[in-house]
Amino acid sequence: MKITKVLVNAIASFGCLLASFPAKAEWKPQAVIQGVYTGIQQIHGYQGTPKVVWDVENGARGGCGRIYGSHYCPRNHTVYVTREHIRLAYQHGDGALAYIVAHEYAHAMQIAYGFGASSTPISELQADCLAGVYIGLIPNIEFDNRDIQEIASFAYRIGDYNWHDPQHHGTPKQRVQAVVLGMQSSLKGKSGVASCLR
Ligand SMILES: [Zn+2]
Repeated sequence: MKITKVLVNAIASFGCLLASFPAKAEWKPQAVIQGVYTGIQQIHGYQGTPKVVWDVENGARGGCGRIYGSHYCPRNHTVYVTREHIRLAYQHGDGALAYIVAHEYAHAMQIAYGFGASSTPISELQADCLAGVYIGLIPNIEFDNRDIQEIASFAYRIGDYNWHDPQHHGTPKQRVQAVVLGMQSSLKGKSGVASCLR
């Protein structure tokens, strides 16, 4: 991932900070989470920002009970990102972590804006689509082709065929299609969010 030129120029005008941002590199989890959060906050005009707790262990207590995997908890308006998911994401790369964070942030916005709150495959795929839109629109991070590949391969990996499981998030193919649809609709300069709400 790369910091976009606009921001680099802004940083350059402060001089000394520039050296601390390598142009192309795998970002560390904290940088990914902060960067994605800052970007999505801007997209939503700083409205309704959820809290974030990251690097949590499975089995720890969260606002919605014990934690088994990254999720958004409406009860305390908090996004949880587990250590295990960070590890899995980095088997693909930093882009995959950005996608997890964007997906969970999307769940918070689904509830805030009433897009669809229940955990059905449709709202899961909608969250994937919204995550793609965010990734496409984020003003402060440039996702390169490698990042896009990391996102697609991770989305494919975490797809499942458990149609009757309430935790079913969509098949591998559906998940890739949803996040790619979101990225495409934002990159074309269309109203990206709307294309996820059909
Ligand atoms: Zn989800």
